[in-house]
Amino acid sequence: MGIRTGSEYRESLRDGRTIFVNGERVRDVTTYPPFRRVVETLAWLYDLQHEHHTLLTYPSPKTGEPVSLSFLLAESEAEMERRWRAEEFRAEAVYGLMGRLPDFMNALVTDAAAVHQFIGQREPRFGDNLWRYYEACRDNDWCLTHTLVDPQIDRSKGPAEQEDPYLALRLVRETDRGLIVRGAKMLSTLAPFANELWVGPFYPRKRGEEAYALCFAIPVETPGLKFICREPYDSGRSHFDRPLSSRFDEEDALAVFDDVLVPWERVFINGDIEAWSYIFSARTPGYALLQAVVRGTVKLRFLTGLACAVAEAIGRAEAPHYQAQLGELVAYTELLNGLIRTGAAEVATARRTGTPPRTLAAVLWVLLPRVHLRAAEVIRQLSGSGLIMTPTERDFANPEIAPYVEKYLRGKGVSAKQRVQLFKLAWDLLGEQFGSRQLQYEWFYAGDPLFTHARFYHSPIVRQYKTLVEQLLQSDARQGGQS
Ligand SMILES: Cc1cc2nc3c(=O)[nH]c(=O)nc-3n(C[C@H](O)[C@H](O)[C@H](O)COP(=O)(O)OP(=O)(O)OC[C@H]3O[C@@H](n4cnc5c(N)ncnc54)[C@H](O)[C@@H]3O)c2cc1C
Repeated sequence: MGIRTGSEYRESLRDGRTIFVNGERVRDVTTYPPFRRVVETLAWLYDLQHEHHTLLTYPSPKTGEPVSLSFLLAESEAEMERRWRAEEFRAEAVYGLMGRLPDFMNALVTDAAAVHQFIGQREPRFGDNLWRYYEACRDNDWCLTHTLVDPQIDRSKGPAEQEDPYLALRLVRETDRGLIVRGAKMLSTLAPFANELWVGPFYPRKRGEEAYALCFAIPVETPGLKFICREPYDSGRSHFDRPLSSRFDEEDALAVFDDVLVPWERVFINGDIEAWSYIFSARTPGYALLQAVVRGTVKLRFLTGLACAVAEAIGRAEAPHYQAQLGELVAYTELLNGLIRTGAAEVATARRTGTPPRTLAAVLWVLLPRVHLRAAEVIRQLSGSGLIMTPTERDFANPEIAPYVEKYLRGKGVSAKQRVQLFKLAWDLLGEQFGSRQLQYEWFYAGDPLFTHARFYHSPIVRQYKTLVEQLLQSDARQGGQS
């Protein structure tokens, strides 16, 4: 099949899936008003693959048809550059505001495929399943969602110690046809708009938790699989009033599995803690890490541009301390622009030699969440009350008040309408439901920061750093220029 068009993608979502929003089952996600516009955005991204196929596709090694570059098992730096340039193009199309563009899961499945032989070490058929699944995702251009984390319930206990062992997703039994699984996972971003759900490792599992060490993929419309969505943020307001939530609300859902059958050919890990830990411990090449960093960098460019535009629109860009803050954001953005190349080179090396992409992980787990929050803080501080005082498009259309709005809400060298539109964009990005979720998302995007940060402390490099200290303490007075 190869790359799909927007209308083929839209049609594929009309499959009887079980999606609940606001207490009701949504029969057709493509026409449901709060979902309709983001489906249009996603369909447009599918169409872009045809318009820009040289930039965004390569021939499938199996069928020869054009498929998304986010499936390329890139090994050389030139191939890596093709990959990330395509990912950058699509991230730019949505200003980095959709954290789970299909590119992300395409990259994650490609990572898993790269280590399929290890995953199949104990049971080779599972490794083969994984490889075939990767090929099917690539050649059918499916849109995937994923869910990795157990529901919170009581975080002081593991999944097996909860009052009900089936709160977290768990194996019920094995049958001739496959696994029966029950429980829940959260969250699942993009779920109503995906074709496939990937369930897999994230946090480590320990001995005794084998029934929870499951990795598989199933169609979203699988019987017994239900998604309970959070309140949608697209309330039908105009693009002027809600420039972002009217286009990019990718949705999040709780995934509930009511004795769902996972066919054997879709099982990748069943109780194998070692295979589970292998994927979890970032020993995959890091294609998904790179896509996430590219997306995050594009968003930071957008945030930096917005901060500068807001400051200039109210004459604040002349104040030296704001210039310093804006410059700080520009500098972070430059740093990240450079780190994409470093990260891409690391992934190419990781694919060839298995050396983990450490810089890339540090960027995604530590640097990006911090700089996104810093950019939000700068925009909030420099915009002051302007962020709040944003009348609607209809206020500008009412002749009784329009002259006042136009007079008192104009900016420095910009009309009131331009200024209000800009500040509305900033408010949608930082303050509205959409914006608050964005902040929460960037912090937890790559998992719990407490956990991901601590992983660096436990890494072998720490020994080298401590050795420097020991060296100094043990050196005699002549070393290091001391008298
Ligand atoms: C908007 C959004 C979209 C998401 N989309 C997806 C998705 O598509 N797929 C997916 O799989 N996941 C998704 N997630 C989930 C994400 O992976 C998790 O939020 C993240 O892994 C953290 O887990 P948690 O939310 O269960 O928080 P918890 O693990 O419950 O942590 C809550 C807080 O407790 C802190 N904490 C952790 N351990 C301790 C301790 N021992 N003592 C004290 N405090 C501690 C944490 O640092 C955190 O601040 C999404 C999350 C958000 C917010």
